[in-house]
Parts: sequence; C-alpha cells; structure tokens
Amino acid sequence: MSDAASAPVLVHTLADLREAVAAARHYGARIGLVPTMGALHEGHLSLVRASRRNCGFTVVSVYVNPSQFGPREDLAAYPRTLPADMDLLRRERADLVFAPSDAEMYPAGYATWVNVESEAQPLEGVCRPGHFRGVATIVLKLFNAVQPDVAYFGQKDYQQTLVIRRMVSDLHVPVEVVVCPTVREPDGLAMSSRNAYLSPAERQRALALSRSLEHARQLLASGVRDAETVAREMKTIIDQAEPASIDYIALVDPRTLQPVAQIHDPTLAALAVRIGTTRLIDNAILRP
Ligand code: AMP
Repeated sequence: MSDAASAPVLVHTLADLREAVAAARHYGARIGLVPTMGALHEGHLSLVRASRRNCGFTVVSVYVNPSQFGPREDLAAYPRTLPADMDLLRRERADLVFAPSDAEMYPAGYATWVNVESEAQPLEGVCRPGHFRGVATIVLKLFNAVQPDVAYFGQKDYQQTLVIRRMVSDLHVPVEVVVCPTVREPDGLAMSSRNAYLSPAERQRALALSRSLEHARQLLASGVRDAETVAREMKTIIDQAEPASIDYIALVDPRTLQPVAQIHDPTLAALAVRIGTTRLIDNAILRP
C-alpha cells in the first residue's frame, strides 16, 4: 500500500461530519461507517478494509465513549492515540475521521438512552451493568449522524453485535450491519486496544484465552458434546494462567446467548478473564 495516500479529513463536530458525508452522498457514494474507540490495530483496520471494498466513502469514528464505562472501569486510562490512528487510517485510505469531544456528544442536559433488553442482559450485561446502554446509545447517535448504508463491527465483541442487530431491527434503523472475523496476533491472542495494558509476562498468560477456545474446538472434534465438560476443561487452561480471575466462561446459543447443555448445533464459547488488572474477552463459534 502506498504511503503517499492523503490523510483522511478529520472533523470534530457533528455539523462538519454531516457536511462532509452529505457531499460524498451527493456524488452517489455508498457510505460505510466503522465505529471505534481508537488506539487502532489490525482488527480495526480489517473493518476499514471491508468498508473500503464495499463502499465508496468510509467514515471512521474515533471516540472513547464515557457512557459505556462503569465507574470503576478504565475510562481515564484507556489509550488515546489520535495522531497514530490518523497515520494508520491514511495508509488505509479512509475518507473521513470523526473524533468528537464529550461536549459534542453529550452536551449539558443530555438525557436520552437506548436500552436493549434480551441480548444485552447475560454475560457482559451481568459483569458490566450499563455497558450496552452506553454502546447502543452511542452507536445509534453515530448512525443518526452519519446515516451510513453499511456499518462494520468485529466478532471479537460478539455480544455487542447481537445488541446492535437487535437495536437496528427493533428501531427500524436503515443500515446494513456487517460483522467481520476476529483478527488475532500470530500466537492466537485476539487483538485489542487493552492488550497495551499487559506486561510481557501478562501478555504470555493472556494466551490462555485463545488456547482455551482452541482446546474447546479440539474437544468438539474428538466427539465431546457435554457443555459442562467443555467449560470445565477451558477453566483448567485459564486457571493455569494464575493469577487470573474469571468473569465467565459460557457455552451459549449464538442467537439468544442462553446456555446450552449439549453441543449439537453451532454454539458460542465466550469468556471474560482478568489477567492482572486487565479484563480481556474472547469468543469462538464451535461447530460440532
Ligand atoms: P473498539 O475500539 O474496541 O470499540 O472496537 C471497535 C470495533 O473494532 C468493534 O466493532 C470491535 O468489535 C472491532 N474489533 C476490536 N478488536 C477486533 C479484532 N481483534 N478483530 C476484529 N474486530 C475487532
């Protein structure tokens, strides 16, 4: 890829965003949106590439959305690297970057929230109360501001994709939601902006997440169908990454996120684990 690509246009206000998108729409471009919290890595860039393949105009939002962080979560520490992000997005030839301030997105008096029930309740919903309320709200606000034809999300945040699909369907949002596969480091670790928090030793221990998913796949291949057995063996692998605390290891229906007892259909294996103080999530669809 040429390094000589011109930088995407960077806007910070909704007015400038709307104007830039309107101009692109005027010449007939399909609009793709990639919502991110920045600290971009190959996982994010895979979404940008997917948008570039299918849309004539790609908007990337870079916004650390405070409303999806709990009071004891890492909002203040979350990496903010806009100049480096802009450089990566220039190489990917993204067209427009929207990096708003908190005051732009949540001005004084802000009081409207999107609450998705059902899919938002288990797993992350239990561990991070209010998280998906923040996610659904900011994503709907971005959808309304950009009015994209297509929006791109990663399977890395599997439950988030279900919550967004539910919101889009229930609220008749005219956008196509595309989910792209999880991008991993060569050793299997799912890419995440939060991986930057890991010390080298923790980075090694974090491999337990992807290893446990790989082990679950092997158990399935060897004929194991009992979900409790699979979860127990996954836990054994995670426990070896001491001191890790497990938020959940779940084997669930990939549409409803309800637990399954026997794995006879495609099943989501999802886990959330703390390595030191860093909370990591990963998942895989197991196909018997
Ligand atoms: P974030 O910046 O963490 O909010 O993520 C922005 C988007 O990138 C979300 O749709 C994520 O699911 C997606 N994403 C994050 N990590 C990965 C990854 N390793 N592979 C694919 N997509 C990812």
